[in-house]
Amino acid sequence: MAKTSARKTAAKRGTRSSKPASRAPRAAGDKKFVYLFGRQTDGNGAMKALLGGKGANLGEMCRIGLPVPPGFTITTEVCTYYYANKRSYPPVLRAQMDAGIASIERQTGKKFGDLKNPLLVSVRSGARDSMPGMMDTILNLGLNDQTVEALAARTGNPRFAWDCYRRFVQMYGDVVLGVQKRADEDHDPFETVIHGLKHERHRQDVEDTTLTADDLKELVARFKALIKERAGKQFPNSPWDQLMGAVGAVFGSWMNDRAIVYRRKYNIPTEWGTAVNVQAMVYGNTGDRSGSGVAFTRNPANGAKEFYGEFLINAQGEDVVAGVRTPEPVSELKAQMPKAYAELERIRQTLEKHFKDVQDFEFTIEDGVVYMLQTRNGKRTAMAALKFSMDMYREKLIDWKTAVMRNPADQLEQLLAPVFDAAEAAKAKAIATGLPAGPGAASGQIYLNADRAVAAAEKGQKVLLVRIETSPEDLRGMIAAEGILTARGGVSSHAALVARQMGKVCVCGAAAIEVDYQARVVKVEGRSFKEGDWMSIDGTAGKVYAGQVKTAPSEIVAGLIHGDAAAKKTEKFKNFQQLMKWCSDASRMSVRTNADTPEQAANAVAFGAIGIGLTRTEHMFFEGDRIDAMREMILAETEDARKAALAKLLPYQREDFAGIFRALHGYPATIRFLDPPLHEFLPHTTEQQAELSKKIGVPAARIHQRVEQLHEFNPMLGFRGCRLGIGYPEISAMQARAVFEAAAQVQKEGIKVRPEIMIPLVGFKKELDLQIEVVHQAAREVQAEQKVKLNYMVGTMIEIPRGALTADEIAQSAEFFSFGTNDLTQTGLGMSRDDSGSFLPQYAELEIVKKNPFATIDTTGVGQLVEIAVTKGRATRPNLKLGICGEHGGDPASIQFFEKVGLDYVSCSPYRVPVARLAAAQAALQAKAGD
Ligand code: ADP
Ligand code: MG
Ligand code: MG
Repeated sequence: MAKTSARKTAAKRGTRSSKPASRAPRAAGDKKFVYLFGRQTDGNGAMKALLGGKGANLGEMCRIGLPVPPGFTITTEVCTYYYANKRSYPPVLRAQMDAGIASIERQTGKKFGDLKNPLLVSVRSGARDSMPGMMDTILNLGLNDQTVEALAARTGNPRFAWDCYRRFVQMYGDVVLGVQKRADEDHDPFETVIHGLKHERHRQDVEDTTLTADDLKELVARFKALIKERAGKQFPNSPWDQLMGAVGAVFGSWMNDRAIVYRRKYNIPTEWGTAVNVQAMVYGNTGDRSGSGVAFTRNPANGAKEFYGEFLINAQGEDVVAGVRTPEPVSELKAQMPKAYAELERIRQTLEKHFKDVQDFEFTIEDGVVYMLQTRNGKRTAMAALKFSMDMYREKLIDWKTAVMRNPADQLEQLLAPVFDAAEAAKAKAIATGLPAGPGAASGQIYLNADRAVAAAEKGQKVLLVRIETSPEDLRGMIAAEGILTARGGVSSHAALVARQMGKVCVCGAAAIEVDYQARVVKVEGRSFKEGDWMSIDGTAGKVYAGQVKTAPSEIVAGLIHGDAAAKKTEKFKNFQQLMKWCSDASRMSVRTNADTPEQAANAVAFGAIGIGLTRTEHMFFEGDRIDAMREMILAETEDARKAALAKLLPYQREDFAGIFRALHGYPATIRFLDPPLHEFLPHTTEQQAELSKKIGVPAARIHQRVEQLHEFNPMLGFRGCRLGIGYPEISAMQARAVFEAAAQVQKEGIKVRPEIMIPLVGFKKELDLQIEVVHQAAREVQAEQKVKLNYMVGTMIEIPRGALTADEIAQSAEFFSFGTNDLTQTGLGMSRDDSGSFLPQYAELEIVKKNPFATIDTTGVGQLVEIAVTKGRATRPNLKLGICGEHGGDPASIQFFEKVGLDYVSCSPYRVPVARLAAAQAALQAKAGD
């Protein structure tokens, strides 16, 4: 196959690679599985699906002239093939790899396995989205007992050659041959060997860099013996055997536990697969004019526009991230290697200009020359994302719509999270400081291992995970913890990386704390903290406190909800307001809130909600003495007795509604009538029943009997929703009267009032008609009594499948629909949310459900019910108002779906309102871009 034609095919495929099915099947024989980068570059940054994120961007960096060591990428399609064909490769792969190696050889002048000038390569995994720590990289591949001597002779640096070799044997032994820490071991076995040798030969824990060539040679021998003993295999000598083994290990690691856990958390489909990158080595470990580092073009923790990163002199790749040696900030390079620093600055500018986003990149300096090994959009905290987006807009790097898209909606809540109360923190006095790696404030009971942290969190404790440093094994513990504290590691350490991504509060490299895993204690400043003791960390300032420290609301909450003038002057507050304004400009849907009290309604309005999408009136019946009146009503034996009890409830409801109407300043309020089954209001224990009997003068036996009578086998599907109002119309009449009397009262105060009465659980048009009549009757009465004209609507909740399927009929009577997606999911799936805990986790594991359907709407199933109801409802009543008030109303992925089906608004809890506004804006922008 001629090169030129291969390149054309590649370019063509790049744009279509996300839809392989639309392609005419090609003979496997001429398929391109290997893409070069370097002097010739086949791929580009847009080809992440095929080349993985790392491979695509290596290609892109070559295209813009950045110094990248040459190499090639084996496509994700090979990974798919590998798992579809009993872990084997397409037959043509080897020949294409041969050509790839030959190309690297031509560009470097080195030869794979050569005894004069050996080519060494790295083998690197690279999925579509980076998966930190999930896949393992092998460096210096191609070394054996012969080529190591050649490398030593060629460079005149035996120490360097043996350092490469011992790293290679160690990584290969671990990643490919599976020599890893056993359950009964506390340390990695290779590290134990290194530790032993250091103490034998140097009688102390010296730095790796002080090991001599001879020490390293000895380590190689001991490592090989360890591998032989543990894996029962000889270390492979042939470079090609090494290479094929490493490639297999990368593909194999796609299915390891850690990778699976990570994919599940971030909803990454298994089918995507990983690519493998094979790349010529450059060496950061040749001496003091070399090194290796990780940097961000801006500060990913707080968003500041500063070169941010760190490096280690005389080190290779993973040393920086591993947190074994503590690296130095990049700015130090300015003094130590001014030329290299200037080059890095140039690269930093080039990257931002080209990618127009903050980049997280990896580099190596070999004898003063800078090489780029990776770049990707930097993971960032919500705080940094906000500042990046606003700054880059002002710098004219991006437009306002891009700025909106740059703020991850599901992270936005971080900005509303509490911070430590300044006065309290000053009193508490920091006991240690570290790097501020994940902003926010967290207090928790400390645990020193991930399993115990998870167990404690499951018991409901607030947990702080404390580790010397974290590794991917700790992921579960990190997910469970409020915050993460490490004694070692820099801003690019694993802990910092993951914390940034998950929005966890994190302080790392707090060197003053001493973590004793065996004794399960943390010592600092002469004090000891046992597991279960409280500590607090401030991830914005990098401070560690003993005990619990009181928190204060974030500047945004302080400014919006409490009207704090100082908070309103902060940059964070102003940026947030700008973002929210743009969200309003971009959105088609509006955002309402689910609120049951005037305070909640006011908060939501402060956050930008433009109405209430759901008021659950039953919540009002639980407060104070009201519950007794409610119980009297339920226990009443005649209609008159029931009406008497209801009359006691009416003033309460009226006051509640009036408060809510006032808080809304003219925005609409959707008020749902009584919904839950009545037994939820009655006391269930004998003591409680006796107590109630004394209070309201109904015999305990009668109460007991009524509880029995109301018992249901499936309360969720029982006597609830509109069925109650149909059974006892006087309840609906009382509620309607309370709404209208409150409306009349507030309207007379000069405030516009727009009640929207919502009848729950409707499956038949007739159900709705019966209730609507009760509502209109009350409206007529109140309007006549009060001599006012009220502006109201009556509609229904669509929350059972029959309601959705007969929406055309129901829309004849309903003036609006609000999708109650909680119940619609329960009834649509035939799955009780409260009982799903016993099987849903396994369903997620088996990928029967890709996401929890109670958190993110099941678009393929329940979504169809929504779509049917939208279509049928609007066919009957073109101006039918459509909203959603389930849990899904605050979920960005679900909001995207609601945008697509054309709802008018989403409604969510007050503190989710900003999230929903951002998600609605992004959904609208995406929909427009998709047109
Ligand atoms: P990860 O996905 O875990 O970041 P990488 O494939 O990026 O793994 O490799 C980790 C580190 O290994 C890189 O940051 C780099 O420092 C080093 N490395 C990888 N390939 C090379 C290479 N060809 N030459 C020198 N160092 C390399
Ligand atoms: Mg790695
Ligand atoms: Mg990397």
